[in-house]
Amino acid sequence: MLGDTIAAVATPLGEGGIGIVRVSGPLALDIAARLFQSAAGLDWRNCGSHRLFYGRVVDPADGRVVDEILLGVMRAPHSYTREDVVEFNCHGGMVALRRVLELVISCGARPAGPGEFTKRAFLNGRLDLAQAESVIDLIRARTEAGLHVAVAQLSGRLSRLIDELQDKLLGVLARLEAAIDFPEEDVEFVSAGDLRADLARLVRDVSALVEQAEVGRVYREGISTVIAGRPNVGKSSLLNALLRENRAIVTEIPGTTRDVIEEVLNVRGIPLKLADTAGLRETGDPVEKIGVERSRALLRRADLVLVVLDAAAGITAEDREILEQVRDKKGLVLINKCDLGDAASLSERLKKLVDDKPVLIVSALHGTGLDRLADAIAQLVLGGGIGAGDELLVSNVRHKSALQSCLFHLREVERSLNEGLPVDLLAIDLRAAWEALGEITGTTVSEDIIDRIFSDFCIGK
Ligand code: GDP
Repeated sequence: MLGDTIAAVATPLGEGGIGIVRVSGPLALDIAARLFQSAAGLDWRNCGSHRLFYGRVVDPADGRVVDEILLGVMRAPHSYTREDVVEFNCHGGMVALRRVLELVISCGARPAGPGEFTKRAFLNGRLDLAQAESVIDLIRARTEAGLHVAVAQLSGRLSRLIDELQDKLLGVLARLEAAIDFPEEDVEFVSAGDLRADLARLVRDVSALVEQAEVGRVYREGISTVIAGRPNVGKSSLLNALLRENRAIVTEIPGTTRDVIEEVLNVRGIPLKLADTAGLRETGDPVEKIGVERSRALLRRADLVLVVLDAAAGITAEDREILEQVRDKKGLVLINKCDLGDAASLSERLKKLVDDKPVLIVSALHGTGLDRLADAIAQLVLGGGIGAGDELLVSNVRHKSALQSCLFHLREVERSLNEGLPVDLLAIDLRAAWEALGEITGTTVSEDIIDRIFSDFCIGK
């Protein structure tokens, strides 16, 4: 499969300043030689790697000029894919780009699948799987904090840590296997005390990674949030007030269909995904009923709920009902319109009613208390422990479950050791723990998982 040459438009479809057709594989240079004419008449094939050449793409069939371009040449193995890569930097119009791609394909390349360039980088050993996955996280990052996590992963920090843990595991395993091979010298090879200490250290390190995975996921994927409350308490005003200050950059992800409008806020680096909700009231109106059903479903799925009350109206029966509905949810209670009523005494009464949710006083209209609201959200979501400035290494659910599986097997080893079970049983679990870690960097991962990961990428990446 790696013997062929792949090509794709690597820039977004539509009008742009430039558009790039990327080609990778053994035919890349030959294809460029057939289609490209250097304006200066340079013998560009003998001009080294990592250079740009100005010239034209000419259709070999009729000699017509298709576009004026810069040709980028990156020779194997110093390229994104470690293969020969050429990039046709065209004028960013769809017709020219498509025509150049057609010509490239007619010269022997085939259209690349989603993520196939990055997949080649992985298969050719330039990136490990965790690094390759971070490429898509980097592209889709919604906040700078999210970007920070992705860049750390791309630089290979997580991979190095996983390699180190695997080495340590291998050390323990080697000692155990020696004991299996020479059972009579069992005691000399493995001292149970040493083994316990080694295992305890490994369990501690892997647990720490699992713990930060949740925070990492928050930065990577964001938190789905619902603003709940009776009509007229100021939900839309609050959303608008928050959006004015904190609107996040939103990237459309192809293949996701959304049945609700979603706004994304950047709250202290956390992408807060806010679904627009119709309200949570009981209703007889069938049309409104659909809206209410949908809101309920959204509420069930939400990671975070902001319940809004009206300071001027006090706590109504309907408010109590809504608070009851979100009893088990992570959330904040906001007393809005603090300019109109006695929010302080209302706050005291509410705190008794909702003992586990922080109560905040705000005015959506005047922008009062919104800074404190952002702090409270960050505190609630991150648990106060780990922040965007800290080094976060795990953000991916796949990595988290591999770490959990590693932890499970390490604990099994500890248990077997305590119960005095034979060393070959210990070795089985140690090997499983080692393999679980390898799933993260891709050394022990199956081909369908690799395919699934890259199918999520865009074409041309
Ligand atoms: P929703 O139905 O919950 O989305 O409520 P809206 O956001 O539409 O607000 C209902 C009314 O309350 C509007 O007239 C808002 O201008 C007003 N409102 C919202 N927040 C405040 C506030 O903090 N103070 C005052 N005085 N009025 C507010």
